[in-house]
Amino acid sequence: MTEGADLYRLQDLDSEGDKRRQRLVEVDAALGESEALRQARQSLERVGERVRKWMAKQRALELEVQDLADKISREEERLYSGAIRNPKELEDIQAEVSALKRRRQELESDLLEVMIEREDAEAAQGDAQKRLDEVRASWTVGQADLMGEREELQGKLAEIGQMRAGLLSRIDAGDLAIYEGLRRRKGRVAVVELRDGTCGGCGVAVSPSLEWQLRQGQLTTCSNCERILVRL
Ligand SMILES: [Zn+2]
Repeated sequence: MTEGADLYRLQDLDSEGDKRRQRLVEVDAALGESEALRQARQSLERVGERVRKWMAKQRALELEVQDLADKISREEERLYSGAIRNPKELEDIQAEVSALKRRRQELESDLLEVMIEREDAEAAQGDAQKRLDEVRASWTVGQADLMGEREELQGKLAEIGQMRAGLLSRIDAGDLAIYEGLRRRKGRVAVVELRDGTCGGCGVAVSPSLEWQLRQGQLTTCSNCERILVRL
C-alpha cells in the first residue's frame, strides 16, 4: 500500500528536479560564444580588413613612385650623357623630367596620406584586439563558472534520480500513475497537506469520512480538487 508521505516526498524530489532541469537548460543556452564576444571579434575582423586595404594601397603607390624614380634617372642620364646635342630634343627631355618629377611629388603626397590612414587603422586594430582580449577573458571566467554549475546540476539530478528510484519501489504503480496525472493537470502540485481539516491545495474543508479514511492510512484524495491528501 502506498503511503501518502512517500508521494509527498516524491513530489518534493520531482519539484527539485524540475527546478534544476530548468536551470540546466538556461546554463546550456548561456554556454558558447556570447553576443559581446561575437561583436568584439567581428569589429576586429572589420578593422583588420581596413588595415589590409591601406597596406595594399601603400604598396601600390610605393611601386609607382619607384617606377617614376627609375624613369627620371634614365631620362636624366640621357640628358647629361652628352650624346644628345639637338637643343630641341634636350629641351623636350628636360620638360619630360620636370613632368615626371611633378607626378612623383603628387604620388608622394598621396603616399603620405595613405600611410597616415594605415597608422590610424593599425591603432584601431590594436584597440579592437585589446577589447576582444578583455571580453574573452571575462567570457572565459563566465564559461568556467557555467561549466562548474552544469556539472553540479548534473550531479544533483543524478542524486535526485537515485532517491526517486528508491522511493518508487515503495509506491504502487497505479498510485504513481494517479500522481503523475495530477501533477500534469494541477500545476505540478499533486500531493497536499491536510491542515486543520482543510485541503492544503484548494482550502475546502475535508469531510469527516475522508479524514477518517486518511487516519486509517488509506490513500485519500480531496473531493473538491482531487489532489492527494497527506497528514504529515
Ligand atoms: Zn482540495
